Amino acid sequence: MKRYDAVVVGGGPAGSTTAWRLADAGASVLLVDKARFPRDKPCGGGLTIRAVRQCPVDPSPIVEEEVDLVELRFRYGDSVLRHARTPVIRMTQRRRLDAFLLDAAREKGVEVREGTTIDAADVPADVVVGADGANGTTARALGLGAGIVHGVAYEGNVGYGAVDRARYDRRAVVELADIPGGYGWVFAKGDHVNIGVGAWQSEGPRIREHLARVCEAHGLDPSQLENLRGHRLPLRRPGTRIANERGLLVGDAAGLIDPVSGDGMYECFLSSRYAAEAILAGDLASYEGAVETALAPLHRASWKLKRALDRWPRTSWRVARTELLWRSVERLLLGDLSAPGEQHGVARIPLRALELLSRT
Ligand SMILES: Cc1cc2nc3c(=O)[nH]c(=O)nc-3n(C[C@H](O)[C@H](O)[C@H](O)COP(=O)(O)OP(=O)(O)OC[C@H]3O[C@@H](n4cnc5c(N)ncnc54)[C@H](O)[C@@H]3O)c2cc1C
Repeated sequence: MKRYDAVVVGGGPAGSTTAWRLADAGASVLLVDKARFPRDKPCGGGLTIRAVRQCPVDPSPIVEEEVDLVELRFRYGDSVLRHARTPVIRMTQRRRLDAFLLDAAREKGVEVREGTTIDAADVPADVVVGADGANGTTARALGLGAGIVHGVAYEGNVGYGAVDRARYDRRAVVELADIPGGYGWVFAKGDHVNIGVGAWQSEGPRIREHLARVCEAHGLDPSQLENLRGHRLPLRRPGTRIANERGLLVGDAAGLIDPVSGDGMYECFLSSRYAAEAILAGDLASYEGAVETALAPLHRASWKLKRALDRWPRTSWRVARTELLWRSVERLLLGDLSAPGEQHGVARIPLRALELLSRT
């Protein structure tokens, strides 16, 4: 049987870009995915510019909408509309993005086997990359990922016609403070909007009610939503092992979702970069530290913001709606700041206020 430098299990954004980077450097790579592409994945499909900047492949051909209007709302009432200087999110659909990235990996020379699973304990390669997402089994097979906790998210689509296109043009609407441990969203796409909610895992039994409230706040009957799907949001706690001498985990398999935004694609592309670097250097042990250094400041700040919003929703909202806070949010979405702690000057004030709230 042919041996490879690496076998990647899972062909979502984390797996396909890890494979792409390895093949780009001349490594022999086998990627297996149990699904056949194009396949869908429950997701808002929002690629922040900070994610795009980390993606080794330009996603422009499958982008459906550029977002430069961010509408923040508090309990479906008070709201503020922020105009970004330049688009901060590029909207796509995962069915399209994932097939596009997998094709790019294939074109780089990765051997791709769709509709296939593989036993991680019996892989014909020096290294196994677990990229099999929130419900994957590679982490356990490698004895990794034991400290991952979960949130939950639920979403669906509704076509323009049922909703007014002009209302959502170039826009991401974020509904704050009504859903414990999360928020609701309405994202503009090419011919529809995507509506969803994320929450603590304990909100699972009420997740449909939360989504129904967001729909109603946007003048929709929840029964109008199509392609309704739920999925887990894996959240890594500090110290969780994501690499050993046999292999490593990337993306959702490593629990790298941002605790407050629920975004994970930036983390997919970042972890794929560090994974490829560690594999090519023959130094898997360096991977965990590289991911920790790159993401811990951002995710620590996100946990604090999540606590502040949960415990002090009204006061946090007063801070969140300020122009000063938007300055930091915009720079974070653009990837000009890798974590809020890098913000300087007067714009630090609202960040500091939220941090104090999270500790109170
Ligand atoms: C409702 C919702 C909305 C979200 N919205 C956003 C958003 O707008 N922006 C954003 O950045 N992030 C968002 N996220 C997070 C984002 O979807 C994830 O972080 C991202 O999908 C992780 O990609 P991945 O490649 O790690 O895993 P996945 O995309 O889950 O891919 C894993 C792959 O592994 C395959 N697989 C699983 N098991 C096996 C096996 N045993 N053998 C072979 N293959 C296997 C699967 O078929 C799949 O193709 C959202 C998440 C949810 C749940």
